[in-house]
Amino acid sequence: MVAAALFWPLRAGAASSAPAGTASFSPLARAVWKAGGRGWVRAESGAFHVFGKSPWEVADARAEAGLAWEEIEKRLGKDPAPRPARLFVVSDREIWERVLRGADRRKDSLAIQAEDEIFILREPSASTAPARLPHELVHLKLWRRFGDRVPLWLDEGLASYLGWRAAGQVARASGAALNREKSVIADDQIQSLADIQSVRSYGEMGPAFYRQAEEMVAAVARRTGDEGLADFARAIAEEGLSWEDYLTQRLKLSALELEEVRKEMMNNLQQKAR
Ligand SMILES: [Zn+2]
Repeated sequence: MVAAALFWPLRAGAASSAPAGTASFSPLARAVWKAGGRGWVRAESGAFHVFGKSPWEVADARAEAGLAWEEIEKRLGKDPAPRPARLFVVSDREIWERVLRGADRRKDSLAIQAEDEIFILREPSASTAPARLPHELVHLKLWRRFGDRVPLWLDEGLASYLGWRAAGQVARASGAALNREKSVIADDQIQSLADIQSVRSYGEMGPAFYRQAEEMVAAVARRTGDEGLADFARAIAEEGLSWEDYLTQRLKLSALELEEVRKEMMNNLQQKAR
């Protein structure tokens, strides 16, 4: 592993002579690589191999990913056998639409995590989506720890909740302020907790799915602290507990207290966040 960042230009179509090679890339990564044409630049650190079209772009992404990853590992634990993930920074929306949109299984639409690869659309206005990369890194961490056992509500709830937490750390490190606008959720957009937990595909998600799933995670974090989220994730993913069971059996909430938590979540969804 190299301690300092290394940059070198890589030529598309010259995979066999490229320092990193593209032989281990997924078909999607190869398609992105090919669509991006010549002049890919790579930066690497222990945890990430970052590919983009300019040294400053990859340096930025590498720094952001490093800071966010540190924060995420603090909450969800370190990998037992660390290995680098590949991060592709795509700044060309046309390439994104043509190559990546159709392949987006997760429907996060402007970012994709698929096993050890992350693809992210970075537009000039990237600062308007500060949690985009951290959100995907939470998906990466959950996939590495629990594989396919993570239900969608937990996957998206934790990615949203911890993604914003990590984005806050990244912003603080650079002295920037983090602005987050939360929209107010209307009554008719809200799914029942049972429906949220039974969602198995992106097509079954209601319009407020991400926010509701995040509120379910936030409600736990308010009681356990963020450091309790690793245990929460493990109990849901590995033991198959429901959200309600976790609160009543593990956090020992009474039925009355559980009802209070539900009300508190509804209030949070229906109020403009400050
Ligand atoms: Zn997501």
